[in-house]
Amino acid sequence: MRQLTYWCEHARLDGTVAEGVTLHTAPDGTLAEVRAGQEVPDGATVLRGLTLPGLANTHSHAFHRALRGTTQTGRGTFWTWRELMYRTAARLTPDSYHALARAVYAEMALAGITRVGEFHYLHHAPGGTRYADPNAMGEALLAAAADAGLRITLLDTAYLASGFGPGGTGAPPEEHQLRFSDGTADAWAERASALADRAAVLPHALVGAAVHSVRAVPAGELAAVAGWAGERGAPLHVHLSEQTAENDACRAAHGRTPARLLADHGVLGPRTTAVHATHLTDEDVALLGGTGAGVCMCPTTERDLADGIGPAVALQRAGSPLSLGSDSHAVVDLLEEARAMELDERLRTRTRGHWSADQLLRAATEDGHAALGAPGAGRLTPGAPADFTTLALDSVRTAGPPPELGAETAVFAATAADVRHTVVGGRHIVRDGAHTTVPDVAGALRTAITALHT
Ligand SMILES: [Zn+2]
Repeated sequence: MRQLTYWCEHARLDGTVAEGVTLHTAPDGTLAEVRAGQEVPDGATVLRGLTLPGLANTHSHAFHRALRGTTQTGRGTFWTWRELMYRTAARLTPDSYHALARAVYAEMALAGITRVGEFHYLHHAPGGTRYADPNAMGEALLAAAADAGLRITLLDTAYLASGFGPGGTGAPPEEHQLRFSDGTADAWAERASALADRAAVLPHALVGAAVHSVRAVPAGELAAVAGWAGERGAPLHVHLSEQTAENDACRAAHGRTPARLLADHGVLGPRTTAVHATHLTDEDVALLGGTGAGVCMCPTTERDLADGIGPAVALQRAGSPLSLGSDSHAVVDLLEEARAMELDERLRTRTRGHWSADQLLRAATEDGHAALGAPGAGRLTPGAPADFTTLALDSVRTAGPPPELGAETAVFAATAADVRHTVVGGRHIVRDGAHTTVPDVAGALRTAITALHT
């Protein structure tokens, strides 16, 4: 990688918007030097607008993108949505998943996202048959991210059961869930280890672990998944209390809440991120915060699925760092996720100002990257990855406010459509609003999705 210099008209540095910022990249794809108040150096690439650290999409299921629009017809519930999602999952092969994920990750790059946390449980062929390479689906996702120029933390997900069974066991997977299951946590760990070892040589990829949910991993298997993540120092994610039905079933099976069950089996800790955390008791909030576990909010998905509004303010006060994810990809726009967290809280409490724009950007950048196993990323500072994105400040949405209110403009007015540039590891992957390696992202999405529906 060549050493490059970018000159930013405006850039967000440590909570303020600075002018005339030079970003010198090192050959290893990190930032070598960051200086404000500079004229444009000879040979520098000029980035007009507001440059932010690259955004972290902490929670993604790439294949859900194929459901956009189709699940908005009629009424339905979370559970009818899940049936549609299963039908789409049943049609994917390693090749078709690669094509779809490449397009989805390119869409994310166009939205300023530089790292995705892919919560991946579509491991095997329909019916549970192993592919010749048992990690063919995970490999397809790693390759898709490379093709789209994105960094990926593949959260290899244990999904072993269809629900709570008698005596703390799990009920066997239903037919459409067979391809998600490795059978046991030990078998999951063996396959995940093989994928993690292969990803270790890929500069853009990390492999972490995930517990799909307390419904899908029996209590007796939770410690094995947590132990795998602990041994490897890897991030550990888990869907938590998105629906009250999960809480009711967990109480009936185990006499405790899902958060308590996870804590009792060693799943909660500073490397853990709980996703959604919508329906929590006060004790659950204290448990999560007390262990330093983070929480990933997915507001556009949570409102699409009528989940409810999670207690983000209380969680943060209790000690949980917050991050953001586009999850089902009903919308891929981290700026919308960031403002939604604040605006949802305003509607619930009828008060304003729970987070500043700067704090919301921190959830979309630093704290998101940290939740994906990349602490120190998400800042424009020497030594951090040279990952950044530039928003237009002259669009119909963003024109008008003074540049020093750039963070407020970015969070409360801009959308993904205002992203002009995205740079990952010092390399331009979106230039002037166009992806540099996927020339027709909309066409790639249409082709990949149409193939699944016909
Ligand atoms: Zn999810």
